[in-house]
Amino acid sequence: MGIKEKVRAILSQLPPGVTLVAATKTRSPEEILKAAEGGIEIVGENYAQEAEAKYQVIGNRVNWHFIGHPQRNKIRKLVRFIDMIETVDSLEIASEIEKRCALLEKVMPVLVEINSGREPQKAGVLPEEADGLIKEISKYPHLRVMGLMTMGPMFGDPEDSRPYFVETRKVFERIKSLQIPNVETRYLSMGMTNSYKVAIEEGANIVRIGTKIFGSRE
Ligand SMILES: *Cc1c(COP(=O)(O)O)cnc(C)c1O
Repeated sequence: MGIKEKVRAILSQLPPGVTLVAATKTRSPEEILKAAEGGIEIVGENYAQEAEAKYQVIGNRVNWHFIGHPQRNKIRKLVRFIDMIETVDSLEIASEIEKRCALLEKVMPVLVEINSGREPQKAGVLPEEADGLIKEISKYPHLRVMGLMTMGPMFGDPEDSRPYFVETRKVFERIKSLQIPNVETRYLSMGMTNSYKVAIEEGANIVRIGTKIFGSRE
């Protein structure tokens, strides 16, 4: 199966209301356009430079999510063309997005990344610190919190990922119940090639898939 057919096969099996984001780090513009022919409308990129180079080729034929760890000095570049930043996990990053988007008079949709595995080396805010961070971000007029994202620890068996998705879903429901002004709880981005079916069972409505579409990254 080619890329186009693989996208079609995945899309045909996703429940209604679940959005497929193609995780496209290391993939070429040609590969991304094949995925778009199959029905991909959103791609997720991890690195600012790489994303910008591909944006220059592909432009707005797809929407662009940023799913990597945003570096402060790359945000100015990113906010020009990125449609959603899924990986906001500190006030420092949020305030830089605020500053750069204010200059462009643009409101940036963002997801707050949860470190559901509580892994010290991993990105994301701890589950119990999410509420405080989101309340602070909600005061920024040029950011709009739209939901949460998590990676979770990597496992061979996707069942092992379930508790981390459950934990993130709990945070999602808690934030929803707080009804913070200027905060939406619309998107829950969880699950990759190995784990997306479990993630959907636990409430994900965005899944980020690379390998299953494009093959393994060498
Ligand atoms: C690479 C990546 C994915 C996709 O991973 P696959 O296992 O290739 O499906 C999803 N989310 C993030 C943040 C990634 O960096």
